[in-house]
Amino acid sequence: MRILVTNDDGIHALGLLALRAALLRLGEVVAIAPDRPRSACGHAVTLHKPLRLTPVELPGGTGYASNGTPSDCVALGVGEQVGPAPDLVVAGINAGPNLGWDLTYSGTVAAAMEAAICGLPSIAISVTSYTATDFAQAAEFAAYLSQVVIQHGLPQDTFLNVNVPAVPASEIKGVAVTHQGRLIYENRIERRTDPRGGDYYWFSGDRVDHRGQPGSDIEAVAKNRISVTPVHLDLTDHTMLARLRVWDLTWPGKIT
Ligand code: MN
Repeated sequence: MRILVTNDDGIHALGLLALRAALLRLGEVVAIAPDRPRSACGHAVTLHKPLRLTPVELPGGTGYASNGTPSDCVALGVGEQVGPAPDLVVAGINAGPNLGWDLTYSGTVAAAMEAAICGLPSIAISVTSYTATDFAQAAEFAAYLSQVVIQHGLPQDTFLNVNVPAVPASEIKGVAVTHQGRLIYENRIERRTDPRGGDYYWFSGDRVDHRGQPGSDIEAVAKNRISVTPVHLDLTDHTMLARLRVWDLTWPGKIT
């Protein structure tokens, strides 16, 4: 088995190295990851400048640093630029949670999404602390879940998003299969003043509901459970489809 690992925290991130080491027990692992932190880049791809791949010596073998985004890295790996196409793509281990509506901002999740678009089974995995240094437990779970995914396969257009609570192993209360929670922030943008008296703005804010809705990814990690959410590429609101057809959307060519 050949596994492609990537992330949005950069090729030298501890989470990627831990993931790679754990997955080496399952087969061949190729790491292609951004050459710098690219968190919150979402599903961006690089269209207007050359993409480069630079070999990087990592513990246990060579990896590849790319000047592109996580989605670029998956496209390069799947496109057989550094060897045969992978059988599985695992993105992470991200430092920081990827829960609820935050999935759409995440470069880690977008990498798994890109793999699903390419028709490959994929997993995005995160630990819930931005300052995490211990990825051992999440790496073990990633290896375990990778085996399970290879065994069962995943449906077309579907990948798994995993969040591992950043607590000692003894405090983990098992695995929860979850749905994406509703993640609402308040005071999202903070206005500050620079030394010359001009305004500038900084994303910040507090989550409105820290516990999350029952059955959600947010609730699971709040209860120290490993959250596994199946995510589908289709963002269509299928309930709204029928309702929208009832609206009269006949376009008269101008506003009447
Ligand atoms: Mn990140």
